[in-house]
Amino acid sequence: MNSVNNEGVSLWKESHLQATYPQIVEDLEVDTVVVGAGITGLTVAYMLKRSGQKVAVLDKSTVGGGTTARTTGKVTSQHNLVYKDLQDRLGNKIAQVYADANQTAVETVASIIKREKISCEWEIDDNYVYTTDSTKVEEFKTEADVAASLGLPSTYETTSPLPFAIEAAIKFTGQGKMHSQKYLLGLAAAVNGDGSFVFEESGVIGIHDGDPGKVRTRKASVTAKSIVVATSVPTMPLVARGAYCILEYPKESYIVAGTPEKVIKGMYISPDKDNYSILPIAVNGSPTLLIGGKGHISGLRISKDTRYTTLSEYAAKHFGMNQVTHRWSDRDYIAYDGIPLAGKLYPWSKNLYVGSAYRKWGLSNGTAAAMIIHDLIIGIENPWASTYDPIRLDPIKSIPHVAKSYISKK
Ligand SMILES: Cc1cc2nc3c(=O)[nH]c(=O)nc-3n(C[C@H](O)[C@H](O)[C@H](O)COP(=O)(O)OP(=O)(O)OC[C@H]3O[C@@H](n4cnc5c(N)ncnc54)[C@H](O)[C@@H]3O)c2cc1C
Repeated sequence: MNSVNNEGVSLWKESHLQATYPQIVEDLEVDTVVVGAGITGLTVAYMLKRSGQKVAVLDKSTVGGGTTARTTGKVTSQHNLVYKDLQDRLGNKIAQVYADANQTAVETVASIIKREKISCEWEIDDNYVYTTDSTKVEEFKTEADVAASLGLPSTYETTSPLPFAIEAAIKFTGQGKMHSQKYLLGLAAAVNGDGSFVFEESGVIGIHDGDPGKVRTRKASVTAKSIVVATSVPTMPLVARGAYCILEYPKESYIVAGTPEKVIKGMYISPDKDNYSILPIAVNGSPTLLIGGKGHISGLRISKDTRYTTLSEYAAKHFGMNQVTHRWSDRDYIAYDGIPLAGKLYPWSKNLYVGSAYRKWGLSNGTAAAMIIHDLIIGIENPWASTYDPIRLDPIKSIPHVAKSYISKK
């Protein structure tokens, strides 16, 4: 294997130039200030602006400075094997909300791309969960049925376009894939202007939750009726991170990318060992392949090289991807019950909102969270809000779940 040109740099960041938005240097007053220019922050800002608000988005680095520009790029309501598990643990009503929120989010991303004419390699495609393990066949049949019963576009399959034999698959039709950084730049362009703003290099160092509230950077402050913390995980010094550390835990994932010899349709993920995630996508017209997987709980002393090597060998063996051009890793957060957090940050928050814990599916879950936060701010009833409400979580009940994840290292 030749050396990697872009060590640690995501394909999405490297293959597209940054927009340059100014740093905030003067105090400002808007209706809502959003901290963080990832998919959550920019989507909620975009939606609020369309509802007539003046908004400001502040990022400590750049648009796409966080995890969104380091994703695989799948926009789907199929999150590996999730629906039977949610139904069993949390009941049919919550499984239904999760299905509705994510499928609506997929359609929302598609409609934003169309409305704003965002050029981001968007393509509608089928998404598959597959297994090569014959002992999982019954589990797959059940998951396909549960997902279909929730109204999702789910069918059980025994074949797929993959270049190797599988035992079973679940296909969701009409899902999407995209260049996540180009999508964010399109959203930012739609947010900025007409009394609304995007600021880069404008890290927020303090938040006052009041009526109105205020966020502070080193050079200026923004006063606003509502504040949205969209920083992936709410961190110090913005909020007392301690509370959220108990409620959600981080997982690291790895991706290698390059040019494949074998080009296939579809997007894939597997619950089998190594959790391979496969995304074929045309980037600037060139066939490109991303292979992700080898995830684990963050903070462990684990050799990244070994993980990249496993993914690279898999890509070479099955897809003829003999040169890895980019490889990177990043983390995402998971709430202890597996449902994202979107709503008031704390039970006592006045006008302070959060979106977090997307269980590595933030392109859909983050969009759904943005829709919930938008509705709460505008005062519209949202059918998913109580299910995603962070206030549902009990820190004491959370401890054994989070601890178990650290012990199992997965
Ligand atoms: C390897 C990998 C692959 C993934 N693949 C997929 C996928 O295919 N599909 C999918 O749906 N999901 C995927 N995910 C999950 C998804 O990427 C995340 O859930 C989502 O991007 C989180 O978005 P966000 O807006 O919450 O956070 P981010 O995108 O991280 O944005 C947060 C922003 O906040 C800014 N910020 C932080 N602190 C401050 C501060 N104090 N002041 C100002 N700004 C601040 C950061 O600079 C950053 O730009 C993947 C995750 C990983 C790790």
